[in-house]
Amino acid sequence: MEHLPSRPLGIDILKEVPWGTHLCCFYESIEDYFDIVNPYLKTGLENNEFCTWVIPKCIEKEKAIDVLQKVVPDLQNYIRKNHLEILEYDECYINKKRFDGEVILAGWRKKFKTALSTGFEGVRLAGDISWIEKNQWDDFARYEYEVNKEFYNKRMLAICSYPLEILGAKEIFDVLENHHYTLIRRNGKWIVARSFVDMLNKLLEIHYHLRGENIDLIRQIGISSHEIKTPLTSMKGYTQILLKGQLGTITGPQKNALEILEKNINHLNTLVGNYLSLVQLKTGTMTIITEKISLHSLIKETMNIISPLADSEEIKINVRLEAGLPQLSIDFIKMQQVLINIIGNALKFSSKGSSINVHISKKNKDILFEIQDYGLGIPKDEHKKIFDMFFQSESTKKKNVKGTGLGLPIAKTIIEAHGGQIWVDSTLGKGSTFSFTLPIKSVKTPKIIPLL
Ligand code: ADP
Repeated sequence: MEHLPSRPLGIDILKEVPWGTHLCCFYESIEDYFDIVNPYLKTGLENNEFCTWVIPKCIEKEKAIDVLQKVVPDLQNYIRKNHLEILEYDECYINKKRFDGEVILAGWRKKFKTALSTGFEGVRLAGDISWIEKNQWDDFARYEYEVNKEFYNKRMLAICSYPLEILGAKEIFDVLENHHYTLIRRNGKWIVARSFVDMLNKLLEIHYHLRGENIDLIRQIGISSHEIKTPLTSMKGYTQILLKGQLGTITGPQKNALEILEKNINHLNTLVGNYLSLVQLKTGTMTIITEKISLHSLIKETMNIISPLADSEEIKINVRLEAGLPQLSIDFIKMQQVLINIIGNALKFSSKGSSINVHISKKNKDILFEIQDYGLGIPKDEHKKIFDMFFQSESTKKKNVKGTGLGLPIAKTIIEAHGGQIWVDSTLGKGSTFSFTLPIKSVKTPKIIPLL
């Protein structure tokens, strides 16, 4: 895959970024907005990029042109030569009276092709999100996520500006999660925030690289994943201390924000855990360290991690453990990772308000774990493939559900290393049951089959 060079951005605090970068900017006033957008567009025009500018709802086109013209004196020339197009929000984002992310992405693809074929270096977009209504938010956040994938390693740059007044805590987290860099105006100065959520995107980038076989790179990823895990553990600890009110009483909105933070930290932890396992599997360094574990404590600690996510989706998880289950000799952390991956998927592919059943029972010489959801389901011909590395079902991809395609192959490897088996029963549109066994009498030497 070709790796594209960096581009000058025109913004003082962030001089250059690679092609494919998707930034966001939070602004309080229209002056702040132009402070970023003017030099950004000017630089694009000077560097022979095709520029699309979607202006904020609160400003008329003529007025916007006036302001940009102050820094780009030959602006009219650029407009005449079709080097810059200026759109009102509804000319860009609204199609047949509604917002449809797919249609807009297709529009960007077309612009990109035309721009390259007419001799431009690439495309530079400045979008503005002041028009959005509350009920359009989730669709828009999904679209922003797709923009990242669409622009990846293409000659495209985008900055999306958000007026701070329209954003609540949930929206801010969505925006952070879906952009590589965030520009925020604070105390009269711009700062670049690369929040911890940004690491998700870093990991996504790594994910693309991992499709290759560069072992050195894989080792480096192992090291950086460890470096991410340590601060994450401390962030999680402090968030829980704050949530429990141990550092002072917290208000309702603070509680909401902390819960979102906790959910994101858990998500990132799972993701980093899976990447670490992948590295260990690829480098042959995965180990299984067993100890006698009660299934009650395994489930209780797993549910502590999963519950904030389930609560936020209003999904009820019914856990049923048969009486008198024996203790098992297992690797606690790795089996927890297995359960989080499987129950996490059940949550991810279920709709709000539904339920999930977790049932653990004794079956002959094994303990049987069953995780049942009433979500999207998986087509029959994919039941085997979902345990392959990086596989994602077309049906779930269509719904824009985020994922890496790592959770199940890693779960399978860990279960098999413990001497167990995993399988799925699923009907498209009805739901899935993932089942796995672990032998009551543990295997003597766990055998780990590396993932290729
Ligand atoms: P990820 O969920 O990160 O994409 P996984 O390896 O955990 O990766 O899962 C692979 C694919 O299997 C998912 O992308 C999805 O298409 C499908 N899948 C897994 N669990 C479920 C489920 N409970 N319901 C529907 N589809 C599922």
